[in-house]
Amino acid sequence: MVSTTERPALDTVPLTKLKGVGASVAEKLAPLGMHNVQDVLFHLPFRYQDRTQLAQIGTLRPGSEAVIAAEVVIADVVFRKRRSLLVRVNDGTGSLMLRFFHFSQQQVKQFEPGKRLQCFGEVRRGPAMLEMVHPEYRLQSQGAALEETLTPFYPTTEGVQQPTLRKLSDQALSMLEQHELVDWIPGELLRESNLPDLVSALKMVHRPTPGADVEALMSGLHPAHRRLALEELIAHRLGLRLLRVQAQRNTAPVIPVNSALAEQLQASLSFTLTDAQQRVLDEVLANMATGEPMLRLVQGDVGAGKTIVAALAAANAVSAGYQVALMAPTEILAEQHLLNFSDWFESLGISVGWLSGKLRVAQRRSAIESVAMGQQRIVVGTHALFQNDVVFENLGLAIIDEQHRFGVHQRMALRNKGASETSLPHQLIMTATPIPRTLAMTAYADLDCSIIDELPPGRKPVKTVAVESARRGEVVSGVAKAIAEGRQVYWVCTLIEESESLQAEAAEDAIAMLQELLPESRIGLVHGRLKSRDKDAIMQQFKAQELDLLVATTVIEVGVDVPNASLMIIENAERLGLSQLHQLRGRVGRGSAQSSCILLYQAPLSQNAKERISIMRKTNDGFVIAQKDLDLRGAGEVLGTRQTGLAEFRIAELGRDSDMLDTVSDIGDHLLAHLPDNVKGLIRRWIGEERKDYGGV
Ligand code: ADP
Ligand code: MG
Repeated sequence: MVSTTERPALDTVPLTKLKGVGASVAEKLAPLGMHNVQDVLFHLPFRYQDRTQLAQIGTLRPGSEAVIAAEVVIADVVFRKRRSLLVRVNDGTGSLMLRFFHFSQQQVKQFEPGKRLQCFGEVRRGPAMLEMVHPEYRLQSQGAALEETLTPFYPTTEGVQQPTLRKLSDQALSMLEQHELVDWIPGELLRESNLPDLVSALKMVHRPTPGADVEALMSGLHPAHRRLALEELIAHRLGLRLLRVQAQRNTAPVIPVNSALAEQLQASLSFTLTDAQQRVLDEVLANMATGEPMLRLVQGDVGAGKTIVAALAAANAVSAGYQVALMAPTEILAEQHLLNFSDWFESLGISVGWLSGKLRVAQRRSAIESVAMGQQRIVVGTHALFQNDVVFENLGLAIIDEQHRFGVHQRMALRNKGASETSLPHQLIMTATPIPRTLAMTAYADLDCSIIDELPPGRKPVKTVAVESARRGEVVSGVAKAIAEGRQVYWVCTLIEESESLQAEAAEDAIAMLQELLPESRIGLVHGRLKSRDKDAIMQQFKAQELDLLVATTVIEVGVDVPNASLMIIENAERLGLSQLHQLRGRVGRGSAQSSCILLYQAPLSQNAKERISIMRKTNDGFVIAQKDLDLRGAGEVLGTRQTGLAEFRIAELGRDSDMLDTVSDIGDHLLAHLPDNVKGLIRRWIGEERKDYGGV
């Protein structure tokens, strides 16, 4: 469906073409994702007011918003607590008080008894009768206050008012007559799902007709809203499918399934792989042996033992003469991988390199050089590995841990680090976030999936209890007892603010309190504001059992492994989402001792928090927890994208819209097979020009 008309496309019309938008307003609109007129149409209201019909005063209820038409009975300036203007109006069905705290003398005069006016406002209970405080009002002589459609409220940003956004969307909607907004999804593909075409959907969402189902519109369940979400999800899936198609046009190193190095590594372990680890390893190795780029997601609950699987894959790649990169989202996690890999590989005569953002210039230069020269066969690091100046001699395998913290862009940057123009490294992505299948189909449409669905033997599920923080004293006694038994303990401080400095402060308060109550114990503190060297030193001490108690912020959420730690206290547990609680709790229960987790909470708990805590107490199964988190909070939390702002959708929500995901696959695959122009159009609209790598269909 390519446009046959000469009408200019709305995404080529700059915002400054709209009345009232100059360069400075355009700049203010940019944080809302508005760069052209099409963007205005995809910026949707989050609520509506009904100003389309008059309500009768006699039928008003407190809490509702309404337009009324009535006659002034009496207006009076009174001095009670505050000077206020009270205007009593009546429409024949009842009386209502209008209350103003700020008013001019001229306003007082306007409200002569007998004058007719229309008011809009929220109805509240007043001392004598129902009231509206500071209603919007018009005298009859100024025309009617009624609107033809429901009044939208848009998410806004500093310096941009609601009326501005309404004027913009008014203009954008009327420009639909003269301009092109291509509906890339042919109507016949939508028939089954009973959804409207694009333009009708947009009109409905921005200017709902009187009587429209506002609840459904606001919760995103209205067909008009769903139509837009569907389109966005299709575009997202197409983008990922294209990444995959492009990758598969390339070759990748052929890595033989068996190598002496991998056998030596496996023989040096103090344990044998679980069946699930072996199965996933076999899938990975078979995949790397074909000469086609591997794009594989390995899912495994916390503690399932993903790292050794990655290491064995790495051993094969190194044996075959290729370099391996292992990347983690945080310093602590990357450092831990460095330790594990060094432990495993250096005794086999292979050194493991390190590349983090915190290296000094000279260290960094020499690290980069030995990677480029190929002296370093395995290198572990953080985002620093993505940097442009990092060039591999012949990268054969890229391992990414906790991929949900990395964006699609970074994944692409990595792919471009292959040995040659047409050769890509194999990619192994590990995530401890159990992802419900339907979600994985859309969020990871470019990846094959392997699941380690079994924990190493001997693990006992973590016992979880919830304790009100007023009883913190008892909890501290419990900690003392655990320490006396030689167990190690985590004390996790959480704050709702993402601010590292506030978190650090809370942790410092906690350690002061604990040091006072447990003077005999060896207590350490890690938080995000420590230098990575100091953080590392403390983690090492804890690992080496030189510390009994580690007070930490949520920096330890991901991946840290200390098997002797068997008790965890989580403060303000009610503030954390299920996935995060599960990740934290996964730090204990890694050894053979029975572990426990105490969720300290501030009463009273909200319904939702109660539910979360009760699930944590009931189950240790990451998949159950993820599904529940999806139901309670949405996909951004489950995938961990909300914190990073990556890969968020503008309109869709994977949790809410998950019933459409089969349709998303069907329509997406149909477009991919038959309508390449539509694919390009959708990707351009939703994913954007700057992400060109998607575009080359
Ligand atoms: P995760 O999947 O959370 O990344 P890790 O790879 O950190 O888990 O493994 C957790 C712990 O389990 C580590 O101490 C690791 O050495 C150990 N481990 C891994 N596989 C096994 C196994 N098959 N048997 C016993 N312990 C194992
Ligand atoms: Mg891990």
